[in-house]
Amino acid sequence: MFCVECGKEEKIFRNGVCIRCYLKNNRFTKGPEILDIYICPKCSSYKYKNTWTQESFEKVLKRHIKDNFQISSELKKVQIKTDWGEKGKKLSCKIAISGYLEDHEISEKHYITIRIKGVVCDICSKQFGGYFEATLQVRANKRKLTKEELETIRLNVENLVESLKVKGNRGLFITDYAEEHGGIDFYLSEKGSAYTIAKKLQERFGGEIKQSSKNVGMKDSRQIFRMTCLIRLPSYRKGDFISLDNSYFYIFSIRGNKVHTFELSNWTETVFDGKDLQKASIVGGKELVTEMIFVSQLNDEIQLMDPKMYKTFELKKPKNISFTTKVVKIVKIEDKLFLFPEQNITNK
Ligand SMILES: [Zn+2]
Ligand SMILES: [Zn+2]
Repeated sequence: MFCVECGKEEKIFRNGVCIRCYLKNNRFTKGPEILDIYICPKCSSYKYKNTWTQESFEKVLKRHIKDNFQISSELKKVQIKTDWGEKGKKLSCKIAISGYLEDHEISEKHYITIRIKGVVCDICSKQFGGYFEATLQVRANKRKLTKEELETIRLNVENLVESLKVKGNRGLFITDYAEEHGGIDFYLSEKGSAYTIAKKLQERFGGEIKQSSKNVGMKDSRQIFRMTCLIRLPSYRKGDFISLDNSYFYIFSIRGNKVHTFELSNWTETVFDGKDLQKASIVGGKELVTEMIFVSQLNDEIQLMDPKMYKTFELKKPKNISFTTKVVKIVKIEDKLFLFPEQNITNK
């Protein structure tokens, strides 16, 4: 057959014309010459419809193209390719939209200008305005938190907030934090996450969580509640010696609510639940450990010398082990002496 337009002998596609002539006179995609894309100058999120997204510029641009371009439903297996020059407030962009018209692959090009406009997103403007829904209070039982502990907790909370954000909780942020009453308070943008974070801290450091909420007034004819989540870390720490029911224990690790100890008199490992230790008292930390000089040993006894007093003394071995070091650590609790379970710990 001859094409009525070009006169060549070609397969007729539609209306008496060949595919090439048909495509010359028909477009399957149509779009604006200018696209506006909004970006938050603080967190670099892009606005898409009524939300903000952390997706890449390319993904956001493709979404805008899909929404703003008319693509004929005749075109199947549509693909959009974009290519843009230097990124700035305005950029020139080449768009190629391709697909299949029956079994003919076609591609149409568009040259558009993209205007990048800055506007502070919903979350950043909340954060800027000091917005918070919950307070996470971290305290220690019967003591103040040390400087290192405060630092560790602050880093932990910051990391937890970041990881919750990455998992899709975009609205979560720390508005502020303050060291208060020997502990630290975090002001958080979301009620639910305060508890989640407290739970994670508990898994790591142990302790107890208490929640309370307070009515702080009305907004848009709705009651506004602020939540306070208090985590009280245990009074004891890793490395402490504690006494419980006339026995002494060395805490060598705390995992969540589980406190791993060695009993000093027999070096056996005992794992306590945090609440079992409420009656325990702390007798001291590493200041109770002193080094003695090894003199001699029997199966069940060791002779040591105090290097300051040049005085020798015997101690019963907690179990049948032999000492091979010149220096042996002991623990002095009031007038009692114990061999420090160092070998147990290094074998852990
Ligand atoms: Zn033709
Ligand atoms: Zn933002």
